[in-house]
Amino acid sequence: MQASIVKTPVFIAGAGPAGVAAALKLDRLGIPCVIADKSVFPRDKICGDAISGKVIVNLKRIDPAILESFYEQTWKTPVWGIRFVAPNGKVVEVPFSAKSNPTADIAPGFVAKRMDFDNFLVDQIRQCRHVTFLEGVDIEHVEKIENGFSIRDKSGHYHFETPMYLDACGAHSAFARHYAGLTKRDDHHAGSLRAYYSNVGGFHEHNYIELQFLNPLIPGYFWVFPLPGGFANVGVGMRTDYIRKKKINLNKAMDQLIREHPVLIERFKNAKLEGKIQGFGLPLGSKPRPISGENFMILGDAGHLIDPLTGEGIGHAIYSGVYAAEQTQICMEQHNFSKEFIHAYDVRINKVLGKEMELSYKLQRMMARPWLVNFLAGLIISNRRIIDIISRMYTDFDLRTKIVRPGFWLKLIFKKDI
Ligand SMILES: Cc1cc2nc3c(=O)[nH]c(=O)nc-3n(C[C@H](O)[C@H](O)[C@H](O)COP(=O)(O)OP(=O)(O)OC[C@H]3O[C@@H](n4cnc5c(N)ncnc54)[C@H](O)[C@@H]3O)c2cc1C
Repeated sequence: MQASIVKTPVFIAGAGPAGVAAALKLDRLGIPCVIADKSVFPRDKICGDAISGKVIVNLKRIDPAILESFYEQTWKTPVWGIRFVAPNGKVVEVPFSAKSNPTADIAPGFVAKRMDFDNFLVDQIRQCRHVTFLEGVDIEHVEKIENGFSIRDKSGHYHFETPMYLDACGAHSAFARHYAGLTKRDDHHAGSLRAYYSNVGGFHEHNYIELQFLNPLIPGYFWVFPLPGGFANVGVGMRTDYIRKKKINLNKAMDQLIREHPVLIERFKNAKLEGKIQGFGLPLGSKPRPISGENFMILGDAGHLIDPLTGEGIGHAIYSGVYAAEQTQICMEQHNFSKEFIHAYDVRINKVLGKEMELSYKLQRMMARPWLVNFLAGLIISNRRIIDIISRMYTDFDLRTKIVRPGFWLKLIFKKDI
């Protein structure tokens, strides 16, 4: 029997951080929506599990009560800074804020397994009056119809029609490829592996996350992020074109680093792999692309919004969800779902995230020169003033833009004002 058609003002495909943020924001705006995910929650998502300040800012923006509830959760590690390891093994430690106090403040960032974090987010939509959440529903057929989209799931049980389709299906979104031409480009994409380990030693006392720029992964990196209960999220990531050019086998490179690299041997000597090592791709935001059109917007990874240097995508996905919901409200008020009108969504995303990703792309290319990274690490390590300035960059974007200018480093060397 054919499913009868249900009409909804908004349909969201995918209940990762992007889709859930859109649903939560729509709920708070009083706009009903249907959100469907092919998985049943809790479900894993291959990720580094680092939750940045952007996530915190946006949860608060959607509803301060959600942020308060997040702060109460025990499945997250509070993170106070970042440890970089240069190709020559030199270690640079930078607190996220020169002023923050790990004993008194709420941490600027966290690490939490996506199994827990995404389930927490989904629990928020389960409580929403205006949100209909369908899990275990695989969206397969999405077709343009007059004034909107027709959406059917794989099983044939569901058939919806909507004037606003929000695609938040993640890195492998077929809709984004088909309707916006967002195809994979190896120079704007990264390959990665993630594993969970127990008993990794040598973490910073204030749970710094670690990016280690070690050969042969440069300009990619090896990461170690501390999780609660003595666990760690460990992984490697590298731009896909470099993986091909250098003929790198990420599995072998990761295994070899853990077993043989002088920086890591001691720290992993009692470590135990928990579960499998798994791979996943990162569509990087180093090339601005169209992420909307008539009656639709594309959110999060589906819209290639991952930071090209750090791999951060959760915060960007949540930003896009919030903006898509706000744009939906404007479209409904103005009765305008045209491509030209919805383009305001692209403009807003580009204004907030575009400049930052452009800078990250420059830094990513800078990191491809190991001698430069070694030199800068040597310069920073011995200088408290430089570490304080780099700390300030976490919250001061204008200051951060200076990092790619040679003049900035010359001023630091000659102790001039920045
Ligand atoms: C190895 C790795 C490490 C990373 N590390 C970090 C990190 O430390 N910090 C960070 O901020 N970011 C990190 N990222 C990026 C981050 O994981 C993503 O940017 C983020 O998950 C994007 O959220 P999203 O909601 O757009 O997509 P996703 O989280 O991928 O969610 C998409 C959802 O859509 C559902 N879906 C897919 N197809 C369908 C369908 N046909 N029908 C219905 N539902 C569907 C999926 O089940 C899924 O729940 C990392 C990524 C990788 C691969």
